[in-house]
Amino acid sequence: MPSTALVLLNRPSLAAPAHVDGAPAHRFVEPDEPLVNVLDLGVTRGDGVFETISVGYGSIQALDAHIARFAKSAGILEMPEPDADAWRDAVQAAAAAIDPVDEAYVKTIMTRGIEGDDRPTGWAYAAPALGRATARSEGIRVVLLDRGYRHDVRQTSPWLLQGAKSLSYAVNRAVIREAHRRDADDAVFVSSDGYLLEGSTSNILLRFGDRLVTPGTNLGILAGTTQGDVFDFAVTQGLEVAYELLPIAALHEADAAWLLSSVRHAAPIRAVDGTPKPIDRTFTDALNDFLLHRTK
Ligand code: PLP
Repeated sequence: MPSTALVLLNRPSLAAPAHVDGAPAHRFVEPDEPLVNVLDLGVTRGDGVFETISVGYGSIQALDAHIARFAKSAGILEMPEPDADAWRDAVQAAAAAIDPVDEAYVKTIMTRGIEGDDRPTGWAYAAPALGRATARSEGIRVVLLDRGYRHDVRQTSPWLLQGAKSLSYAVNRAVIREAHRRDADDAVFVSSDGYLLEGSTSNILLRFGDRLVTPGTNLGILAGTTQGDVFDFAVTQGLEVAYELLPIAALHEADAAWLLSSVRHAAPIRAVDGTPKPIDRTFTDALNDFLLHRTK
């Protein structure tokens, strides 16, 4: 079995023509084969949507939530709706085709396709997830970076596509480089009017005693699948959970804080803008144990 498996979708959306009539829903291709057309709008403009899905001990995690968010992102970009069944099958096929490992991930990508063709391009690939354990065990240092939009950007300016997981992630990578320049590991976006938003590829979770809080998705941030599962788990542990508008001060005042995302799972925050923050080791371990062993 290979370490990476790649499948191409013949018809990523039922609302658009298939790439080849009568072809199977997806087909395996060699990951190092050149496949994407240089005129594809995903390449030329980053115009498309994606998901990154954890595979823990062979189980694909939060698949339905990821497929639903994929469709939501496509909707925000006014792209044809992804064919949920075709994508679910593609994810399962890719995940099943790699060497068994404790932690892996599947990435799904749907672009707007080649300009004028009116037919999205879609592929999914699975690969082992390496090197995430240190962030979980040792924690991460974050810096707060202004996203430059107000907290109500989603309502005032929907054309900015906030809240969609679009392929245009150059900014999400640039903030990590800025974090490194500031001697930190990751960034937390804040709104121009001073509210906590989300990490560069994660949601932020704060703990105040027996209460867990996270910013609401009406702020133009991604509805995290990990955060959703963490809230369900927390309720089973007798904790209270809430979505709130959180000023920056809340991060400093919280007893503990985490960045939550697929693949890295719960990374405890150990410093904010250079100020140390205590890690809640027991709850961090409980969270990651739960997240790593999810079977759906
Ligand atoms: N926010 C952003 C900007 C992200 O890119 C991600 C994940 O990639 C998340 C939040 C967390 O989402 P999930 O927990 O579904 O991985």
